[in-house]
Amino acid sequence: MKTHTRVAVIGGGVVGCSVLYHLTKAGWTDVVLIERDQLTSGSTWHAAGGFHTLNGDPNVAKLQGYTIGLYDELERITGQSCGLHRSGGLLLADTPERMEWLKMAHARARYLGLETSLLSPSEAKRLLPLIEEKYFVGAMLDAADGNLDPYGTTHAYAKAARMAGAEIYLKTRVSSLSRRPNGTWDVVTTQGTINAEHVVNAGGLWAREVGRMVGLELPVLAMEHMYLVTDDMPEVMAFNKERGHELPHAIDFKAEIYMRQERNGIVLGTYERACVPWSPKTTPWDFGTELLEPDLERIAPSLEIGYQHFPAMAHAGIRRIVNGPFTFSPDGNPLVGPVQGLPGFWCACAVMAGFSQGGGVGLALSQWMVNGDPGFDVWAMDVARYGPWAARSYTNEKVRENYSRRFSIRFPNEELPAARPQQTTALYDVLLAAGAVMGDSWGLETPLWFAPPGVEPRDVVSFHRSNDFPHVKAECLGVRNAVGVTEIANFAKYEISGPGAEAYLSRLMTNRMPKVGRIVLTPMLNSAGKLIGDFTIARAAPERFLMWGSSQAQIYHMRWFEAQQPADGSVRLHRFDMGLVGLSIAGPRSRELLARLTDEDVATTALRFLDHRAMDIANCPALVNRVSYTGDLGYEIWVAPEYQRRLYDRILAAGQDLGLVHFGMRALLSLRLEKNFPTWYRELRPIYGAFEAGLDRFVDLTKPDFIGRDVAVAEKATGGKLKRISLVVDALDADVLGDEPIWHGGNVIGWVTSGGYGHYVDRSLAQGYVPVALAGDLQEGAFEIEILGDRRKASILSEPLFDPKGERMRM
Ligand SMILES: Cc1cc2nc3c(=O)[nH]c(=O)nc-3n(C[C@H](O)[C@H](O)[C@H](O)COP(=O)(O)OP(=O)(O)OC[C@H]3O[C@@H](n4cnc5c(N)ncnc54)[C@H](O)[C@@H]3O)c2cc1C
Repeated sequence: MKTHTRVAVIGGGVVGCSVLYHLTKAGWTDVVLIERDQLTSGSTWHAAGGFHTLNGDPNVAKLQGYTIGLYDELERITGQSCGLHRSGGLLLADTPERMEWLKMAHARARYLGLETSLLSPSEAKRLLPLIEEKYFVGAMLDAADGNLDPYGTTHAYAKAARMAGAEIYLKTRVSSLSRRPNGTWDVVTTQGTINAEHVVNAGGLWAREVGRMVGLELPVLAMEHMYLVTDDMPEVMAFNKERGHELPHAIDFKAEIYMRQERNGIVLGTYERACVPWSPKTTPWDFGTELLEPDLERIAPSLEIGYQHFPAMAHAGIRRIVNGPFTFSPDGNPLVGPVQGLPGFWCACAVMAGFSQGGGVGLALSQWMVNGDPGFDVWAMDVARYGPWAARSYTNEKVRENYSRRFSIRFPNEELPAARPQQTTALYDVLLAAGAVMGDSWGLETPLWFAPPGVEPRDVVSFHRSNDFPHVKAECLGVRNAVGVTEIANFAKYEISGPGAEAYLSRLMTNRMPKVGRIVLTPMLNSAGKLIGDFTIARAAPERFLMWGSSQAQIYHMRWFEAQQPADGSVRLHRFDMGLVGLSIAGPRSRELLARLTDEDVATTALRFLDHRAMDIANCPALVNRVSYTGDLGYEIWVAPEYQRRLYDRILAAGQDLGLVHFGMRALLSLRLEKNFPTWYRELRPIYGAFEAGLDRFVDLTKPDFIGRDVAVAEKATGGKLKRISLVVDALDADVLGDEPIWHGGNVIGWVTSGGYGHYVDRSLAQGYVPVALAGDLQEGAFEIEILGDRRKASILSEPLFDPKGERMRM
């Protein structure tokens, strides 16, 4: 064994081997993989080997497409067969809602470059005669689906890596990890110690234990999973003989089963409701290549429906049953990337679909390690998307929920119930009493909308406008016509202080830093000039800045801030988390309301748009920002948590005769749409430049230096490739949700990032990206957006429908 290496990858499952191969491909060949036993001896060896492109997140779907395309390359390089069967796959819908979901997936596939088509039940039956067509309303065919040999594929990755210079140590267990003062890692193994510049946790079933070696409790849990293999079936053999090819794969959402051909029989697996975690606290190190005890009782409800839907299966004998564990994160997507606070420690774990995602994970991680950036948008699988609230027992509840819902529809307005409420503010009970329907925002209960007296505070889940529609409308009108109050505790809040704070922020952000008492809005770019953040920054004192951003991205941003922090101690970083909470008041009467809560001068000459002040509000020491995401006159009031209840009570009392209404996140998002304001994670993501996103006025190119400046200069000069546009949509009873294709001249030329109903302007609105050349087509109805399979006319808005000159914010 070597004594030093650039990278030590822990784990020789399909994921670790893919990471190793991709590192060599990216040019790092002084890399090793350390495996406790043999390659594939974790969850990889007993996988059913299926692969598909379908994923709720389009960026993960793209990575799955990459993975599936990679296998031919691997076979070519190594001569090692991956045992590929590219049979295509059918997704079978049993209800109109599921069919709508498939129509959305099909529409999205258009701009992802994936080959899918929608079928009637009889067309589906022609492709897969085993189905009883009366149980289905339609299907989607995904040409990229197939299956492979897990063992051969893992060895193909390993062989390709070895051919490029990587070393693999088998029968070698990593027992501990320690960090040297120079930042490198001592990887202590049963065969000696190796010093590594970087460590990758690809420990699969033991990823949690490898995390614990460095003090991390990763949100990952293994679940038992069963599939059965039938005896030879005459129906399968007859099909093969007649058609000359294999049966396609199938997913039956109602039965919650997947199936595919295996030799002359069928593999049938279930994601059963009565699911069971495996080794919920600790994975034993001596767990070998053994299988778990099958439990047919548990999957009986799925089999019962499956046998009705596929009658031939009911008569087939069962040759063997496989029950094995594999790992999941709370949302089912992988945990990938560098870990905040642990430079040089990387994750590639919780990969539940190793043969669909393993290649993409390897590509993303290797580019991240070699170039400092994954090269594309990996937010949906970034390990930084979870905060400390994703504790072990939280993970257990969420993973079970996710597993049992694997083949369930998630409606756009559906909030999942497991492990809630996790975090609450002091206002939780009073807001519930006021009719709040709560949603989960980065582990925190946050009001979505308020049901008036007599209306049940509950969402009716749907792809169409739902029961909240009139109530969200009333909230929006209340804000625009008078004043509203909403809780904004879920924002991310930071303090950056010290003698180097201004220079530090100036280098990170595209905008100039504000004077004391003033606020700027600013994007943040990575070195490739892509958007990695969007902040409100207030200067509280010459060397003290307060900053607000997206709640979901707090750990993601802290990781970046820490990586850029100077080593000389001149800059201090602090994340308030729930140590600072807030309420926002907005609307034309919000100044009147504020004036009733303080003896300070809040006239527009004294407290201007984009001013920041420390002042007493309702007797509470508070920070006031004169900004509002509603695009209206408005104020954010920030206090320590112990004052929040008092502040809220006083706002409510003082606003009584001003027409004060409660409003929630849904109204806030509707109001911002009317102003064409973008939002982080939808319009602002690391695949867009600041000029493409239309953030021109927040990028100060007269500043001599900031990260990404060169690219921003070039983007401004060339105009970039894409442009964010806002559209008004000729919608019926369903508004865009995000990820719908945008059509122009009969072709799909772009995609929707977000949208919804603009209640005050009374129009259906959308935002999205299209090629720059088309962004100037202001002709009415020049575009179409595909909503639930229906192409609806859409026209570009050259200015916001509400207050295009921004007078309300400044009034
Ligand atoms: C029954 C079943 C069916 C499945 N079907 C499919 C399917 O059809 N399609 C699909 O894509 N996926 C399927 N999967 C999931 C698939 O198996 C996983 O996604 C994949 O195996 C994850 O690979 P991995 O490399 O992350 O983890 P693992 O395979 O668990 O590999 C981790 C490796 O790390 C090693 N290791 C851990 N800790 C240490 C240490 N301290 N020192 C040294 N080595 C260490 C382990 O020995 C192990 O070999 C299935 C899983 C099961 C159980």
